[in-house]
Amino acid sequence: MSAVKPVIIISADWREEAGGAIELGNWYVSAVIQAGGIPLAAPPSEDFDDFESAASDILSAGSALLLSGGPDVDPCFFGQGPHRRLGRVNPVRDQLEMALARHALKRGIPVLGICRGMQLLNVAAGGGLVQDIQSSMPKALCHFVQAPRAYPTHWVTVVPGSMLHRILGHDRIRVNSFHHQACSPLAPGFVQAARADDGVVEAIELQPGQGPSHFALGVQWHPECMFRKFPLFLRLFEALVKAAQGGMP
Ligand code: MN
Repeated sequence: MSAVKPVIIISADWREEAGGAIELGNWYVSAVIQAGGIPLAAPPSEDFDDFESAASDILSAGSALLLSGGPDVDPCFFGQGPHRRLGRVNPVRDQLEMALARHALKRGIPVLGICRGMQLLNVAAGGGLVQDIQSSMPKALCHFVQAPRAYPTHWVTVVPGSMLHRILGHDRIRVNSFHHQACSPLAPGFVQAARADDGVVEAIELQPGQGPSHFALGVQWHPECMFRKFPLFLRLFEALVKAAQGGMP
């Protein structure tokens, strides 16, 4: 008999303009399965009359949370108006994910945020975002590269001593980049775990001892699109699955 695999809840999108379809890239599903977990998609819905209790119930169905990539977080959630380069927003998804992230942090449920998921995690925990890197940081590298999804385009320095460094075991890595926003300022209790050469935050993690959670990590790149070509990136999902089973990276 094989050991019970942990259920990993993956936040999904709901696209009104696509006929109301629930969407979740198969990359996330594959990465969780390859890492030894069982993926369970959690779609946002306007029919939830209380996002807080919905989030709490959803989290009871699994042992870890994966916040997937997607559209921009509505800047109203970090006290700003819409920048002229703001992309698509989905307030229903924002509200459910924000509640999922906060409940996970409060209950010590491991969280991995990817791209938008990292930004959402930062906002949910009280941080903010640079709404458009090109406008706010004229000397920044191109972080929204038109390239195949697995293709790495910029270097990232991983902070020594960080949990991310323990997981990856490298000081410098090359990553893909499909974002026009960036985390800043960081949420209280969170620290930078990786940065690009232009200073853009490429990973955040919760400092140890900040509440019941021992695993809250966000990466700005898309490891789920890279792990088949670069197996190093599967380690992020393996760390989440391990954390779901009570293990520490
Ligand atoms: Mn980037």
